[in-house]
Formats: sequence, C-alpha cells, structure tokens
Amino acid sequence: MTLFCKQCNERRLPLVFAKDKAPLWICEKCGNFADGEDVIIREVTKEEKDAMKKRQEDFENNTVLTGEKLHRRKGVN
Ligand SMILES: [Zn+2]
Repeated sequence: MTLFCKQCNERRLPLVFAKDKAPLWICEKCGNFADGEDVIIREVTKEEKDAMKKRQEDFENNTVLTGEKLHRRKGVN
C-alpha cells in the first residue's frame, strides 16, 4: 500500500501538486515520492525539504504565538 513506505514502514503523506492529477505520496524519512501504486517516482529535492522545514517552523511559531496570546488574555481577565 502506498500509505506506508515499503522501505522504512513510515507513513507516507499525500501531496497534491496539480488539481487534476493524483497526489504523490511522500516519505519524509526516506525523502522520496511514490505514486498511487507505490512506485517510487523521485527523490525529494533540497528546495522541497527546505520548504517542508519552513512550514513546520511556521506552524511551531504560530502555535507558540497563539499560546502566548491565550496566556496573556487569561492574565488580563
Ligand atoms: Zn520511507
């Protein structure tokens, strides 16, 4: 199954690159994409790795900011 990487058994995540195309399944551990039949299409590029890292960092930053806001509001009340 494409849902799990056959190399490391980690979960693959579907990434849609074009609306009219099937998603590619990424394994972040192995750094490659597979298609719906679990055939490895290509490796993740450095740019894509950086973009994923940045998204993760943005997410973490947003989470911290939200937490701070909630904390401050609590203090005011
Ligand atoms: Zn893998």
